[in-house]
Amino acid sequence: MAALGTPQRPLAVAIVGAGPSGFYAAEALLKAPGLTVRVDLFDRLPTPFGLVRGGVAPDHQKIKSVVAVYEKTAADPRLRFFGAVKLGCDLTAEELAARHDAVIYAVGCESDRHMGIPGEDLAGSHSATEFVGWYNGHPDHRGRTFDLSCGAVAVIGVGNVAMDVTRILSRDAEDLSKTDIAGYALDALRASKVKTVWLLGRRGPAEAAYSPAEIEEIGELSTADLVVDPAKAVVDEVSQGELADPAVKKKVEYVQEHAKKGEGSKERKVRLRFRISPVEIIGENGRVTALRIEKNELVSDGKGGVKAVGAGVFETIPVGLVLRSVGYRGIPIPGVPFDEKSGHIPNVDGRVVAASGKPALPGQYVVGWAKRGPSGLIGTNRADSVATVSSLLADLKAGTLPAATDASLDATLRLLADKKVRALSFADWRKLDVLEKAAGAKTGKIREKFTRVSDMLAALIPQ
Ligand code: NAP
Repeated sequence: MAALGTPQRPLAVAIVGAGPSGFYAAEALLKAPGLTVRVDLFDRLPTPFGLVRGGVAPDHQKIKSVVAVYEKTAADPRLRFFGAVKLGCDLTAEELAARHDAVIYAVGCESDRHMGIPGEDLAGSHSATEFVGWYNGHPDHRGRTFDLSCGAVAVIGVGNVAMDVTRILSRDAEDLSKTDIAGYALDALRASKVKTVWLLGRRGPAEAAYSPAEIEEIGELSTADLVVDPAKAVVDEVSQGELADPAVKKKVEYVQEHAKKGEGSKERKVRLRFRISPVEIIGENGRVTALRIEKNELVSDGKGGVKAVGAGVFETIPVGLVLRSVGYRGIPIPGVPFDEKSGHIPNVDGRVVAASGKPALPGQYVVGWAKRGPSGLIGTNRADSVATVSSLLADLKAGTLPAATDASLDATLRLLADKKVRALSFADWRKLDVLEKAAGAKTGKIREKFTRVSDMLAALIPQ
């Protein structure tokens, strides 16, 4: 048999997940010098781009412009897109592996972490993931409802996702009216009665997970004052060492300067508090009415870091909505290893292992959040995917890649046809893209997204 990766026997790679990490892995493979390769890129949704479409906030269009890079990758004739094909449902991991010499999982982290406190399942208590998916028109979340008739919302956690949801809740809805925000979300935000967003960090200003630019954007909102108690913006003795990091110093100084401004006079308030942990979500008749919080003290964690411990002082804040923004989490896929504790696919240098300490499973790789957990910006995924592809190419060179049983171009097409799975091509996505832009143009928006898979499929049936 001809060697894998040569013109006589091109390397056949499947990538599962068409978000940033999947596209960067495809790009790295297609650009690998001296390699003859073809890539099949799968996504469970008919639409590509993962979190860039369904996660990045609608008021961050500049970040979304990265899709131009992915479009270029998708235009490569060696890449085929299979939209609306779900691994573990429409085809199995085994079936995919039998038709490709290597499989790269780029499935991200679709779910979210819980806080493990009483009341988390009350109506009005949601994950930020759900809220983000809702305003972005993600088909999984388009049917959710968020009670924006309440005066106050608590956002738990102070990462960049918390900043996104706080901005969307606090800014003038008209600022969003030209973006690609889902139409129903824009209507709901226009009618919103929310006046206060509590932004609650369990540690101090030096440990806040937000980026300097993100907290500054909150501070610059035209419709909301960022309110911080100066006494609470101080950096504890135990956290002083962290100020050596210029990014930490920058965000601490920003918050401390802002604290001097007091309450301000804008219609809405974002009340940022540190050293606070929620201990119970309180409800009446099954609905959230308040959040019980405990003040924290910061102590060394004994590993060079700082941790929060409850100080036994409690307070109750009336809120009608709680959004926990405490991190994303992967969900297991049948036939693919999953580490319950970390919430992602166990791996060594991107090579999937059955469990920690076990040898690599030949031909299986992982990239992005599914590989390292939910951290980093979109661009972080490029180097991460390049690193995994380097592992794959080293295995190819070492001869340890298991050749597919049937790597022919039509093997996957036949399998999907046999299973009566209708996969959408990138050309189909381009048609949806044109339709969305045209629908948006009617009301001056960048695009009006399809938010139901059934609507996308119906739109593609020739009239
Ligand atoms: P994150 O950055 O990990 O932040 C999670 C936050 O939740 C932290 O403040 C964390 O506090 C807190 N937390 C965790 N468990 C908690 C608990 N039980 N009780 C209270 N607080 C808890 O996660 P993320 O905000 O979901 O963002 C994920 C990644 O996407 C990040 O790398 C982020 O930068 C990136 N992102 C970037 C942008 C952007 O660039 N505009 C937008 C969105 C997301 P501790 O620090 O104390 O653990």
